Amino acid sequence: MSDINVVMQNAADAFKAYSVLAPAVKVDFLNEIAAQIESAREVLVKTANEETNLPLPRLNGELTRTTNQLKLFANLIKEGSWVEAAIDTADKQRTPPKPDTRKMLLPVGPVVVFGASNFPFAFSTAGGDTASALASGSTVVIKGHSAHAKTSSLVFDAIKKAIEKCGMHPYTVQHVLGSGSTVGKALVQHPETTGVGFTGSLSGGTTLWKLANDRERPIPVFAEMSSINPVVFLPDTLEKNTESLAKTYAASITLGMGQFCTNPGLLLAVKSKVLDDFLALLGNEIEAITPQKMLHKGIQESFTKGLNEALAQKGIRKIGQAAQEPGDGEAYPTVAGVSADIFLQNPHLREEVFGPYSLAVICNDKKQLTEVLTLLKGQLTTTIMATDADIEAHDDIIKLQQTLAGRIILNDVPTGVEVCASMVHGGPFPSTTDARYTSVGTTAIKRWVRPVCFQGFKDSMLPDALKNSNPLNIWRIVNNEYSNTGL
Ligand code: NAP
Repeated sequence: MSDINVVMQNAADAFKAYSVLAPAVKVDFLNEIAAQIESAREVLVKTANEETNLPLPRLNGELTRTTNQLKLFANLIKEGSWVEAAIDTADKQRTPPKPDTRKMLLPVGPVVVFGASNFPFAFSTAGGDTASALASGSTVVIKGHSAHAKTSSLVFDAIKKAIEKCGMHPYTVQHVLGSGSTVGKALVQHPETTGVGFTGSLSGGTTLWKLANDRERPIPVFAEMSSINPVVFLPDTLEKNTESLAKTYAASITLGMGQFCTNPGLLLAVKSKVLDDFLALLGNEIEAITPQKMLHKGIQESFTKGLNEALAQKGIRKIGQAAQEPGDGEAYPTVAGVSADIFLQNPHLREEVFGPYSLAVICNDKKQLTEVLTLLKGQLTTTIMATDADIEAHDDIIKLQQTLAGRIILNDVPTGVEVCASMVHGGPFPSTTDARYTSVGTTAIKRWVRPVCFQGFKDSMLPDALKNSNPLNIWRIVNNEYSNTGL
């Protein structure tokens, strides 16, 4: 594709200029993007509302999250220690002589970012993938999501203004629209592309991952795809907090019409009278939920199909469904239940139904709960709702949950992902293609860098981060000890 060829060549040219800029210049650039987005807030939020059906308060909050993410990455590169500089000085007296070796993280090159349908700001054009890639020193080509193409273009206008104001290379960030199977495919296959960020469907993510691995020079695809986020409810907390748990979880299952990758899609517990009470209350809460429009027609159709298929499975019973029937384009909030005996036999029940749907799996005993958890595929999150007495009696369950997901939550809901240094928004396949990384929080930058060791270099030839005098005043490991001073 000749257009994509031009785009990627431009991205590679821009990389030569952008990657070597001083951290302070990139700090100003990221902060300027945030300022430009902020100044366009009204039109951005209005346009996103028209394109995605997401309510204005949610979009306003998401836009704030997006500008905060950009500022967070600006602060990260301002502080500078993220490059993980390590210095081992020479020892000529040793036999054999030890060389001077110095390592740091360097940007990979042009990166392609696929905007997500369910986060028009925070996981799209100027979202976490773009912010982390730019912070690393990589240039970015955004493949805007067709479900919010106008919003994506307007956000890109804000980025362009920042590029001009900060005097960046004009192709530091580029934006393309079009079909995934043509434009998206060509971007991933292009020889100048060095990495890919993606949030979306399992089929889309795995297709792009395979394309990237079939290249002559394979590249990483960091795809965040499919997760049902199991929640384990332990007996003592069910007994003590029956009503509040039902309210809290009905709200989490239906938050944003369930269109979050961390939606609690699986509720696990051992059978008891109090579990029956909890599920009855949860069903009542779900009945009171008003159906809302989903992000776009495709997602609504896919949800309806997935829901109907799930409900048609043997042994499934409805626990609660919105009393008001959904209108055109709306979701049908639903909670269903099944015995663990059937769940263990039917892999279909373990698939993500993206929307306001959750399946309660009723286990005979703790042993069967363990079997269910062992059978599950990789997840973004897993949650445990427990009192101290529960925790004491279920240490093995909690340990098992740690093997399952990137984030383990105690006594909270999985929806709501804090953007911070300690966050892990990732997990074993199929929740993502690479469990070693996160797409949220400052360590998301690690997806766009590679370690490079300089051996025997003169001080004047080294990057600032590795120079003897430590001109950036960053934390480094010098001869195996942390230090923030010069040598
Ligand atoms: P999607 O269909 O995977 O699309 C995401 C992006 O990838 C779009 O730009 C799309 O291009 C592109 N793409 C998809 N398949 C491709 C392929 N085979 N080759 C090249 N590019 C491809 O995701 P979506 O539109 O956001 O929603 C569809 C479904 O994804 C939902 O119903 C839901 O099941 C799931 N989803 C999951 C999450 C999550 O966080 N787990 C989030 C959002 C959606 P086009 O626009 O041209 O198709």
